[in-house]
Amino acid sequence: MGGFLEKPETEKKVEQGSGNGLRYCLSSMQGWRLEMEDAHSAVCSLMEPFKDWAYFGVFDGHAKFSMLRFPEGIKEGFLQLDEDLRKVNNDKPGGSTATCAFISPDKIYLANCGDSRAVISRGGATYISTIDHKPFSNIERDRIQKAGGSVMIKRVNGTLAVSRALGDFDFKRDQSRSQVDQMVSPEPDVTVCDRLESDEFIIIACDGIWDVMSSSEVSEFIGSRLLVTKDIPMIVNSVMDICLHRGSRDNMTLLLILLPGAPTLDEDAIKADRNLDKTIAQITREVIEKHEINDFEVLMRLMKRMAINIPNLPPGGGIYAKYYIIEQVFHEIFPDAPAEIYDFCNV
Ligand code: MN
Repeated sequence: MGGFLEKPETEKKVEQGSGNGLRYCLSSMQGWRLEMEDAHSAVCSLMEPFKDWAYFGVFDGHAKFSMLRFPEGIKEGFLQLDEDLRKVNNDKPGGSTATCAFISPDKIYLANCGDSRAVISRGGATYISTIDHKPFSNIERDRIQKAGGSVMIKRVNGTLAVSRALGDFDFKRDQSRSQVDQMVSPEPDVTVCDRLESDEFIIIACDGIWDVMSSSEVSEFIGSRLLVTKDIPMIVNSVMDICLHRGSRDNMTLLLILLPGAPTLDEDAIKADRNLDKTIAQITREVIEKHEINDFEVLMRLMKRMAINIPNLPPGGGIYAKYYIIEQVFHEIFPDAPAEIYDFCNV
C-alpha cells in the first residue's frame, strides 16, 4: 500500500489451463504499485470425491499479507481460514480479499469477501455480479459503527479501504462480538446458481480492474473479443492495458473462466474487426502526418479525441483496445522512437 513506482511495471504474467469442460486464462500486472500483492488459485479438477468440481480464486492482499493456501469449504472455510491465519498473523498488519468460484457439473457458487468481484456472463449479458464490500456501503458502515469503528475518507477508521477481508486482525479485536460482527468481517457472501447452456464465462478480478471498468464493460469487451480471436491471453492482457490507460494505479489481476457456452469465432465479426483495424491504422497515419507528431503520448491523446468518430470500437474497451494498432503504425514511421506513456491519466 502507499507508494508508487516512477513508471508502471507493465510485464504481464499469464497462466492457462483446462479441465472438466472449462478453460481458464489469468493475467496479472504489478502496475504502479511498489509490490505485487495479488495472488490467485486455479484448479480445474479438485481431489476425489470432487473430481468433477473446479475451483478458482483471486486474492487481493495489502500490507504484505500473503495468501498461500485456501480450503475447499465455502463460508465455514472462510471463517476457519481466518482463525487459522490469526494463529500466525495476529500481531501483523495486512489482510487479503478473497473472491472464489466453485463450479460443479450443474451449479456455480460464487463466494466474495472484500472488494474484488466475480461476474457471470450469460446469453451475452452480465447475469450475476458479486457485491463489493466497501466501508461506505450501508450494511458495512452499519456493522463498522456497531463495532465501535467509523468510516472516514471511505475507509474503516480512515485507514482500510475494504470492509471484509481475511486477516487485518487489528480490526477484529472486540472480544464481546462474534467473528462476523467485527469492524472487518471475514464472512463471504455466497451466491449459487444453476448452470445453463447459455452460461458464457466467469470473470474474477481485483479492484485494480473494477476501479476503472464496470462489470458490463469487462464482460462486453471479453464477449466481443471471443468472436474475433482464439488468442485468450491476448484478450485478458488487453483488459490490463485498457485499465492501465484508464488510470488504474493498483495491482491488477483478471481470471477468465470459459464455460462450454462461451462465444466462438464469427466470420462477420472477424471481417468487421479487420476493417476496423485498417481504419484505425489509416487514421493514425493521417493524424501523425497532419499534426506532424513524433511523440507517442501526444499521438494517443489525439487518437482518443478522434475515437468519437470511429464507429464499432470494441464495446467496453474503446480506442485503448486498439492501442497495439496505433503503436504498430507509430513504430513503422518512427522505428527508433519509444512508444511509451508515463502520464496515463492525461492521455
Ligand atoms: Mn487492489
